[in-house]
Amino acid sequence: MTVIVLDAGHGGRDPGAVNGSLYEKTIVLDVTKRVETYLRSKYGYQVRLTRSTDVYLTLDQRVQTAKTLRGNLFVSLHTNAATTPYAKGVETFYSSSSAHSGKSRVLATNIQSNLMGNMSGMTSRGVKTANYYVIRYNTMPSALVELGFISSPQDVTHLRSNASRQRMAEGIAEGIAQYVHAYH
Ligand SMILES: [Zn+2]
Repeated sequence: MTVIVLDAGHGGRDPGAVNGSLYEKTIVLDVTKRVETYLRSKYGYQVRLTRSTDVYLTLDQRVQTAKTLRGNLFVSLHTNAATTPYAKGVETFYSSSSAHSGKSRVLATNIQSNLMGNMSGMTSRGVKTANYYVIRYNTMPSALVELGFISSPQDVTHLRSNASRQRMAEGIAEGIAQYVHAYH
């Protein structure tokens, strides 16, 4: 059976990006749990989390955990930040240097398109390549989603809202499901 590994970025002493009382580590853990619940209840998939509480994990611990869990795919959730309030939107990354770059590109593309299908009020920055540790060194197809900019007043409206977080989670989950249908 397919094992989906979800990775909520940051945690514990590492809050990630911060805007006032809004912490990246808290937003992404909430959305990750929503993705988990949706994938389990709608599709009956086996879903594992690298962290389910507010704890600190190194990047390598996240990669090693995914390997230990015998994951078939890995999705990391983050929020973006910029020094200007004007940068905004949703983007999904994969690594073109990883062992599974072809499948990772499909995974990233499916996630981005389903996510944007659910979030018509947000800007799509598209699918991009980067060598972030958790997508570069994972031993399974991997993608990293940036759910919007915590520094953008427009994106923050969605990042704070439970209804928007749920729609984001369902979009990500449907993107993952589309990938699983194609490859498993
Ligand atoms: Zn982050």
